[in-house]
Amino acid sequence: GNVAELLSSAARTRPGAAGLVDTTTGTTLTWADVEAAVDAQVAELRAAGLAPGDRVVLRLSTGAAFAIAFYAVVRAGGIAVPLSPQGPDTELATFVEHSGARLIVGTGGDQQVTEVPVRTDPPAARPEPVQPVGAGEDIAVLSYTSGTTGRPRGVMLSHRALLANVDQLTRLDTHVVEPTDRVYLSVPLFHVYGLGPGLLAATSVGAALVLAERFDARAALTHCAEHRVTTVLGVPTMYAEFAALPPDELGEALSTVRLLTSGAAPLHPKVLAAIRAAIGLGVFEGYGLTETAPVLTTTLVTGYPKPGSVGRPLPGVELRLVDSDGTPGPVPLDPADPDDAFAEDAAGTGLVSVRGPNLFSGYWPDGAHGPDAEGWFRTGDVGYLDVDGDLHLVDRANDLIIVNGFNVYPREVEDVINAIPGVAESAVVGVRDERSGEAVKAVIVPEPGAALSEQQVVDACAGRLAAYKVPRTVAFADELPHSPTGKLRRVRLRG
Ligand code: ATP
Repeated sequence: GNVAELLSSAARTRPGAAGLVDTTTGTTLTWADVEAAVDAQVAELRAAGLAPGDRVVLRLSTGAAFAIAFYAVVRAGGIAVPLSPQGPDTELATFVEHSGARLIVGTGGDQQVTEVPVRTDPPAARPEPVQPVGAGEDIAVLSYTSGTTGRPRGVMLSHRALLANVDQLTRLDTHVVEPTDRVYLSVPLFHVYGLGPGLLAATSVGAALVLAERFDARAALTHCAEHRVTTVLGVPTMYAEFAALPPDELGEALSTVRLLTSGAAPLHPKVLAAIRAAIGLGVFEGYGLTETAPVLTTTLVTGYPKPGSVGRPLPGVELRLVDSDGTPGPVPLDPADPDDAFAEDAAGTGLVSVRGPNLFSGYWPDGAHGPDAEGWFRTGDVGYLDVDGDLHLVDRANDLIIVNGFNVYPREVEDVINAIPGVAESAVVGVRDERSGEAVKAVIVPEPGAALSEQQVVDACAGRLAAYKVPRTVAFADELPHSPTGKLRRVRLRG
């Protein structure tokens, strides 16, 4: 099928139901309105010269205009290239050149790319229905990864991969999204987390999306209460901001909510506990990558949130742990490290390797470095399975710090620091050190009003971690650098 067939089905089965509620413009479109707007946008794209296989940059924030432009591009057989509207023009120029896009919906047109009008409404006269062009292995989305670890790469996602993930998610017994749901979404739609489990999954059942172009905790509560939101699709930074508000305010505004989900970065157990205390609901955590369109595992599979775990693979996803040569089986834990925090739970850690119908088709333009001949793809994340078979992520292999030959995963140290009373957030990075090669450095954001000393942090870590994992230096900061989906940008803190 074609991804835009999700929209045809919403417009057919629930034409008069609210589809897109745009809290920025204050407008609500029914699914029939959305489809009419999409067909009108297809005509505009074609008038600007769109042919099947052409890349079209979408440089729009989360809102109705993004959804309309997205469905129009993929319905017409184009390849959507979603980019952050906040990104600098130099970044836009790089991606335009790399993708070879000639059209853009949003701002930033120049001699190389032609601007197609941004559409937020259906036209007065109903346009001719457009037959979808492209399906299956044809590429629907070219998504540039956020670049938290290195140079951005263009991930090619086919109609098959995107539709497979929607199917895998909506088949779960825990009912990720139902037709009568109203889903709050303020994460970027230009990132596949907002796009797949958000826009596409909601469209597939004809549920309403309540869209906000950026997250502000108090504004979000107002929107959730006003639109009687039933599910919230969020990221850890969002839940941390919710958790900092008075619990009764939170409980009251979110009283119609039945499901909270989080992904893209680790959700701290402290935040999960605060949310549960305030509204009586756990937050279901999922794990995925742009390359896997995106969800691989979630605690929705078992039906209970488990602090620190990202749950189990979705139906159809195979997951195994491999060593650095690709040999399957967990790697025994470091025998030099009797204090290893994971040792009690896990038989060993390994690189997370996955296979399934939701995998990407390699990187743009030639499909290089995609899944191997047997369909396996190595994620770059290190994890372990606990006794129940639930996955825990240790960290990204690339973020590993090596101190005197010993491995330190930043997240293990961050977890210990984050549990210290008065710590709002922390980041741990490796800095060059003449004696030990690398040394552990922690940057800490204290909670408002909390008095924390470097010594307190070091003492707390020394009580729970092997000596070489204890931060050599501790710095305090007002905030930490995050990606638009709330990922910690550790690279920016090195040096
Ligand atoms: P780049 O590769 O350019 O740095 P990126 O990896 O940030 O970009 P994404 O596809 O957005 O691009 O991120 C996928 C990564 O996000 C995963 O490999 C994993 O490290 C991290 N991640 C996703 N979900 C979770 C989660 N629930 N807990 C911890 N980490 C997560």
